[in-house]
Amino acid sequence: MQIISNNFAWAFELKPRSVTTHLILHHAAASNATAEGIHAYHLSKGWAGIAYHYFVSKSGAVYSGRPENMCGGHTANWNYCSIGICFEGNFETEEMPEAQLKAGIELVSDIASRYPSIVIARHSYFNQTACPGKNFPFTKLVSGKESEPEKDAEHTDKPSDWAESACSWAVEKGLFLGGENNNFRWREALTRQELALVLERASKLFGV
Ligand SMILES: [Zn+2]
Repeated sequence: MQIISNNFAWAFELKPRSVTTHLILHHAAASNATAEGIHAYHLSKGWAGIAYHYFVSKSGAVYSGRPENMCGGHTANWNYCSIGICFEGNFETEEMPEAQLKAGIELVSDIASRYPSIVIARHSYFNQTACPGKNFPFTKLVSGKESEPEKDAEHTDKPSDWAESACSWAVEKGLFLGGENNNFRWREALTRQELALVLERASKLFGV
């Protein structure tokens, strides 16, 4: 698929991302937006630049934002492990045009084919936000792909709010590995042998 490259200049060096477990979908929350405009806006907030990896316009053009292997800045506590796509428009009030939907399906499918166990989810699944809006055609965009589980606290792989930053830190440091399906089982109990493994990794990390 054709991706238009903007060659953005970053305000500071981007951080490489070591795990990719989630693809997170956003809207611009503005009826008319451009990748350049979002880049300028995010720079003005003191960020490195556009926080998303891709931007899909209403006309169906796909633009690159941050390089796909770098950390984004689009979803609090989840940037260490996710790719972010932003769709032009405000889908709280608008409906997605056909051309944009078609391009979005193609982009989501392309990313999912490169990360076969990636879980696709709306921004609102992770943070307290309306993004990407109630009219966002999530089911159409992810049809046939692995997508967010039903919102059920007992069955999600999402840590509780109070543990989120600690879990992010533990994954970043390699203390917990997600395994084949990048399932961290945050709400399950640890066995003594798993604890031994985590302690061994921690000991190497801290040199004790
Ligand atoms: Zn968002």
